[in-house]
Amino acid sequence: MIIAIDGYSSTGKSTFAKLIADRLGLIYLDSGAIYRAVTLFALQRGYIVDKVIDTGALEADLAADKVEISYNRDNPQDKAEICLNGENVESQIRLLDVSNNVSPIATLPFVRNFVDSLLRGYGPLGVVMDGRDIGTAVFPEADLKIFMVADAKIRAQRRVDQLRAKGEEADFDEIYRNVLERDYIDSHREMNPLRQAEDAVVLDNSYVSVDQQMIWLGWVLKAKLNIEL
Ligand code: C5P
Repeated sequence: MIIAIDGYSSTGKSTFAKLIADRLGLIYLDSGAIYRAVTLFALQRGYIVDKVIDTGALEADLAADKVEISYNRDNPQDKAEICLNGENVESQIRLLDVSNNVSPIATLPFVRNFVDSLLRGYGPLGVVMDGRDIGTAVFPEADLKIFMVADAKIRAQRRVDQLRAKGEEADFDEIYRNVLERDYIDSHREMNPLRQAEDAVVLDNSYVSVDQQMIWLGWVLKAKLNIEL
């Protein structure tokens, strides 16, 4: 079974996807984390300077297998973590420097092809995958597609709260700008832009709690796949 959860930045896709995966015994995969790991790699190598990307150098490194990204699913908290060349980079990929550069990196076709083939390898295991183009491009054959939207200011505030909860500094205005900028770039890029798949079910969770979302999910699973939650 493949469940695709797409939508705008900070709409709570990963929280929802993890819960669905737990309830249905599927693997959860965060495709944005892979784009973030590629971005972190490019930043570490000095391939991004003032938002200008050395695409030739990045493409050469990806082609030469210098970027090994994997999911460690066996850590003690039973929480999947992303590893870049063997190092756990789960917290580094969430920092603002990565957030500010990830969407331009994700417009590059050679990056998208690299990430897509990695993601498709997980399909046969049974996954709930969240991202921007999972239901439209990565797994157009997904059994269920959910498209998540929410008010941009509410989304920015959620991101601020998440970062502060982790002890990171977070400025609302800066994060709000980043959310709007990523929405724009993600939905206007040429290759596989963010858009709702025709057969997706839309969830606007601006004023919906996680518990209410699970009730909604129960209805959707019953109606679309005849599964009782
Ligand atoms: O989901 P998250 O916000 O962590 O994703 C980071 C960025 O990765 C997005 O803003 C988007 O630019 C890119 N992305 C993408 N396609 C996906 C998942 C993420 O382009 N399937």
